Amino acid sequence: MPKAAFCSECHGYVWVAPDGGCMNGHPGPCLRDFHDAVGPLPPLPGHTDSIPAPVPTYEPPPLPPTCVGAITADRVDILGRRAGAFALDWIIGQTLTYHVGRMLASALSGGATTSGAGVLWLVMTVPISLALLYGYFFAFEAALGFTPGKLIFRIRVVNSQGRRISCLQALKRNAARVVDLILWGGVGFALVSASPLRQRLGDRWGETFVVRV
Ligand SMILES: [Zn+2]
Repeated sequence: MPKAAFCSECHGYVWVAPDGGCMNGHPGPCLRDFHDAVGPLPPLPGHTDSIPAPVPTYEPPPLPPTCVGAITADRVDILGRRAGAFALDWIIGQTLTYHVGRMLASALSGGATTSGAGVLWLVMTVPISLALLYGYFFAFEAALGFTPGKLIFRIRVVNSQGRRISCLQALKRNAARVVDLILWGGVGFALVSASPLRQRLGDRWGETFVVRV
């Protein structure tokens, strides 16, 4: 509601300007008897026209948050949690898959008993362990929509409707990790930071979002 006050310079009631002074330019200390007012004010001495009420300043409604379906900007602003979840998953996944990978490589190379098999075993451990590590992320996200790390940090992967992602979506977002992890995750981090809905390359390709629970 507009404010009116008595201006000692104008000798009458005036509208209070946004700067707190008189509508005719007299400073705030000239004003007293502030009050909320509606409609025109009585005319100033020496004038016949009453003073019309100020046109209220138009305030545009707040813009809706950037959103896609059920995904709003505030639900995806969880960079810290994502980093924490990923670090945790990396440790859990790597520990798990390294040992399984070693056993698998050992079994496939017929046991590391001879020196030739030992080299083969070493060479095979890396790709097998890596494949298993990718499988860890894929399997959990495809089956549950979250990994153990995401569970602990209370975040999950969803589609644009906010529902569980499909197997294909899980496959796409994890296949693209190869790119997102370039420069120790710097590429993914830059993409997430630049994206209004915090999507790394894998999220864009799979049309997935990581949201807080
Ligand atoms: Zn005045």
